[in-house]
Amino acid sequence: MLKIIKYPDPVLRRQAARIEEITPEIFALLCKMKLSMEKNRGIGLAGPQVGISRQIIVVKGEKTNHVFLNPKIEFQSKRKETDEEGCLSLPGIFFPVKRSARVRVMCHTPEGKPVAIQAEGLAARIFQHEIDHLQGKLIIDRIPFWQRFKMRKQLREMRKNRKTQSL
Ligand code: ZN
Repeated sequence: MLKIIKYPDPVLRRQAARIEEITPEIFALLCKMKLSMEKNRGIGLAGPQVGISRQIIVVKGEKTNHVFLNPKIEFQSKRKETDEEGCLSLPGIFFPVKRSARVRVMCHTPEGKPVAIQAEGLAARIFQHEIDHLQGKLIIDRIPFWQRFKMRKQLREMRKNRKTQSL
């Protein structure tokens, strides 16, 4: 089982590399990522969150979960929506994040087929959140300074724990 990487691990801040070829290893990784997301009751998961700096995301669907490679936002609506968001890499932290209500994402399926996905509401939010991960961005970068200030103790605690673990 893949381990979920938590803030402030540097892998979460790296720009993830594109997948140019779907090797059997990559294919196995996609399956493992799906399982990890389900096991951790997430609704989305990105490569860097399991320590793999590659452009892979998992998005929870209504019936089944989907894996997308090399996702790129091609269009995002001017209309924004604010909703509570959390992240498996920042456990226990939830706050309202403003995101585009609709997006159009270009990506590849696990079979290597290029597809364009239209998403709105929660699905649009998940895509934006996971694509942020591929660019080394976290939800704490998406909130006003005062809100980040309010949770500084929690974040400091997470940084401290990380230090203790690596000793
Ligand atoms: Zn996240």
